[in-house]
Amino acid sequence: MKVAVVLFTRDLRVHDNPALSAASRAAERVLPVFVHDPALRAGDNRRRFLDGCLADLKASLRKRGADLAELRGDPVAEAVRVAKAVGAEGIGLADDVSGYARDREQRLRRACDDERIALKTFPGVTIVPPGAVRPAGGGEHYKVFTPYWRAWQAQRLRDVESAPRTLRLPDDLPASWFKDRPATQGGESAARQRLTTWLPRLEGYDADHDAMAADRTSRLSPFLHFGCLSPRDVAARVDGRPGAEPFLRQLCWRDFYHQVLLAFPDLRRKAYRASAEDTWLDESDALQAWREGHTGVPIVDAGMRQLLAEGWMHNRARLITASYLTKHLRVDWRAGGDHFFDLLLDGDVANNYGNWQWVAGTGNDTKPYRRFNPIRQAHRFDPLGDYVRRYVPELAGVEGKAVHEPWNLPQPPRGYPAPLKL
Ligand code: FAD
Repeated sequence: MKVAVVLFTRDLRVHDNPALSAASRAAERVLPVFVHDPALRAGDNRRRFLDGCLADLKASLRKRGADLAELRGDPVAEAVRVAKAVGAEGIGLADDVSGYARDREQRLRRACDDERIALKTFPGVTIVPPGAVRPAGGGEHYKVFTPYWRAWQAQRLRDVESAPRTLRLPDDLPASWFKDRPATQGGESAARQRLTTWLPRLEGYDADHDAMAADRTSRLSPFLHFGCLSPRDVAARVDGRPGAEPFLRQLCWRDFYHQVLLAFPDLRRKAYRASAEDTWLDESDALQAWREGHTGVPIVDAGMRQLLAEGWMHNRARLITASYLTKHLRVDWRAGGDHFFDLLLDGDVANNYGNWQWVAGTGNDTKPYRRFNPIRQAHRFDPLGDYVRRYVPELAGVEGKAVHEPWNLPQPPRGYPAPLKL
């Protein structure tokens, strides 16, 4: 093949990018393209993060002799337009699972057929491709995690692809496709660096991952969301090291929710188990207090303020705050999920709404009535109160674990609210 286009979406990397590697092998010239799609909803945090990812991808492609063409509009129309302009015979794209991504792929397939351009899709967004493992007793996807985890562990995984050494662009490309981007921190280079510096902590992951103040989890989630790291590559890097299994289990949760979303594209709006849908209370003041981190329950407020400050929240805090909203305040999981989705750097349809539904009892939890007691969780996972003091300055002067129950202090701290009445 003379020319191929690689349409990047959320696989913003050159290492272990099967679409890019295949194009570099099959075509003499390769045009890497990213289309800014106004139809996709992303908050400011994720948009800024995406900028860093694109700048880094562009720099990596330039180092290899190519560049990143950036366009704006409908990705289908734009991809076909540039493919025709450069005389491409094929377009390569990473397979993805959301309803939007699947619709985009189908539209692109039809448009490519009309223009006699070959469209080829590639794995890489997950470790095991969604739909590749199916329950033995029938059914198109796994509804429960543990049997999925067992089947997942037995899978033979594809080989990790190395980054192409050199790439050649087609000649005479319009300068307007190539925007100069200042070098920023972020993207694949930062992700690979983060993985390398975090790996020595893998051994302690099982023991430490719930210790909220210690902040010992990998913090790779935004990089995995944008595909700055290939989850397959991460699995290969950790596999065989002491402590790998509990961490691989978390990566498997990610794959699990992706195969759930593939089978249930309405995950974001409809209860996965329709019979479990509840009557939610219309508590807009309580919802607002929760969003702002002013519920008067310190561990909940600390989590919500971490989200506001960093665009990221510790997993244990996500569980506690989501359970508090849905099971204590009885507010609809969609309202909580949407707030998380707006602010999270790792905001991801499969993981966010899959986890929200798990916590709310409408999703894949086999114990849908479980309810986290925030005070007990606080004493267990933030025993010295350091996580709360870090994010709730009104409580910074309260020492030790007393910070979790400020209502029991002889003098309630000034400026900190009493707990919401349930
Ligand atoms: P680590 O503990 O280092 O785990 C490594 C990787 O495994 C993570 O980066 C992530 O990709 C994956 N992972 C870990 N836990 C889960 C899980 N429960 N479900 C799916 N994948 C997991 N994760 C997102 O990536 N995007 C979201 O939008 C998101 N929303 C969530 C909402 C709620 C209510 C809850 C309870 C969890 C949510 N999670 C989400 C899952 C989890 O909280 C984050 O993936 C994790 O906190 C990211 O931090 P880390 O990279 O340090 O994780």
